[in-house]
Amino acid sequence: MQTLTLQQPWLQLPDCFYRPVRATPLKVPNLIHCNQKVADLLGLSVKEMNQYSFIQFLNGELSSDSTGSIATVYAGHQFGIYTAQLGDGRALLLGEIEGRKGESFEIQIKGGGLTPFSRTLDGRLTLSEGLREYLGSEALAGLGIPTTRSLCLLGSQEGVLRERREPAVILVRMARSHIRFGHFEYFYHRDELSELSNLIDFVIDRLYPELKQEASKMRPLRLLETIFSNTARMIAGWQAVGFVHGVMNTDNMSVFGDTLDLGPFGFMGGFDGAYTANSADDQQRYQYDQQPEIGRWNCLALAGAFLPMLPGKTIPAGLLRHYRLIYQEYYLRTMRAKLGLVTQCKEDAFLIESLLKTLAQGNIDYPYFFRLLGKFCPKLRNIELLALSSDRHRLLDWLRQYEDRLAKEPLGHSERKQLMDWINPCYVLRDHLLEEVLVNAELGDFSAFTTLLNLLQNPFQEIQGKEYFALPSNQQTERGG
Ligand code: AMP
Ligand code: MG
Repeated sequence: MQTLTLQQPWLQLPDCFYRPVRATPLKVPNLIHCNQKVADLLGLSVKEMNQYSFIQFLNGELSSDSTGSIATVYAGHQFGIYTAQLGDGRALLLGEIEGRKGESFEIQIKGGGLTPFSRTLDGRLTLSEGLREYLGSEALAGLGIPTTRSLCLLGSQEGVLRERREPAVILVRMARSHIRFGHFEYFYHRDELSELSNLIDFVIDRLYPELKQEASKMRPLRLLETIFSNTARMIAGWQAVGFVHGVMNTDNMSVFGDTLDLGPFGFMGGFDGAYTANSADDQQRYQYDQQPEIGRWNCLALAGAFLPMLPGKTIPAGLLRHYRLIYQEYYLRTMRAKLGLVTQCKEDAFLIESLLKTLAQGNIDYPYFFRLLGKFCPKLRNIELLALSSDRHRLLDWLRQYEDRLAKEPLGHSERKQLMDWINPCYVLRDHLLEEVLVNAELGDFSAFTTLLNLLQNPFQEIQGKEYFALPSNQQTERGG
């Protein structure tokens, strides 16, 4: 393990921020998968990661007391209701590593046993939970959406009981930071203002050092603005690809603006504003078309926790508008690019809105439609595209509006297609593909997992022979290689 130097900057903070916790390692762990793309960010080779000492390290067997693993404390609004104490119940922070480009990354293991914050649960992660987060985060990263990353997955012969008995695993994930909105809420609601102020300084120091140039009394407000912007951009990215997080509680919102804690998430197939990924969310609070406003609600909960630190102890009106402005700007920019538009017209927002209604009405697959739209040619009949809709007249109407809009564009057909193919993915993590991976993995076969992972890591590049993975579930005939 000479190759890794770990730091634990949290230990600079008072001990009310965390508890030292030794992992409960998996017995006889094996490396299910090691993600070369993420290892590259750390300058690690697959050979190094396959060393037994490395596996022991990731299994939590080697943590020392000087840079020991910790579980941090946080609170959060869950489905709109405040819970005063949550905390890392099954995640342990092993420490921080310097990446190849000099930036620091936290390494967390998820599933490494009980912590003081585990409440009534078991501190373990099941194989299906681990694979879901692994593929979900790598699919988002492949699409260019900020997210925590998956470094590797350790398997074991141990079982863990959910609805049925499943293999226990450890997911090793990595992010610039795993600090959540709920970390701030915890100290604010306990009226521990000096800890709140400490945490603000800590986040600025670790993640946003450029804010240190601001006058110290303005820093908390600038930090909030930055977090609002990053959150709005992340959620605009989700909306543009049709991703639904499923549990947008404030304890699952990262202050770095990364997608965090991928549990019951989903990538939408047929377009539906009410698409929900979490069967436990019976009020549909976190359905697709609610996500942007829920993001804002969460940002306001964070602003509430910052209140004692803000100038005049008030939330400025400008800050309230800030989130929506950034969201709209970024969403519009991304959707224009998905449509292959390089100029801006006032009616673009209307064109996009009418497209979404057309997709919903015609029960059209969202990612597949955009990929195919790259082939749209005004002079041709575009049969393949029209066949996607159960309401062809409506789609034809919209395509006429689109054709008029394209007439104002400087690009020719092939240039436009090229641009569109770089933003409209060929491969997304569709539910049925994920299900196939989980079924095979439970039988000990991880080949479907690696095939899918490879495609999701380069989702814009169409691979011959992998057509099966690009098709909506209702269009599949026979499985390809
Ligand atoms: P989540 O819904 O996964 O964001 O988790 C909410 C809270 O429950 C957090 O405090 C987690 O640390 C904790 N938690 C979730 N699953 C487990 C588990 N299997 N064992 C212990 N704590 C858990
Ligand atoms: Mg969580």
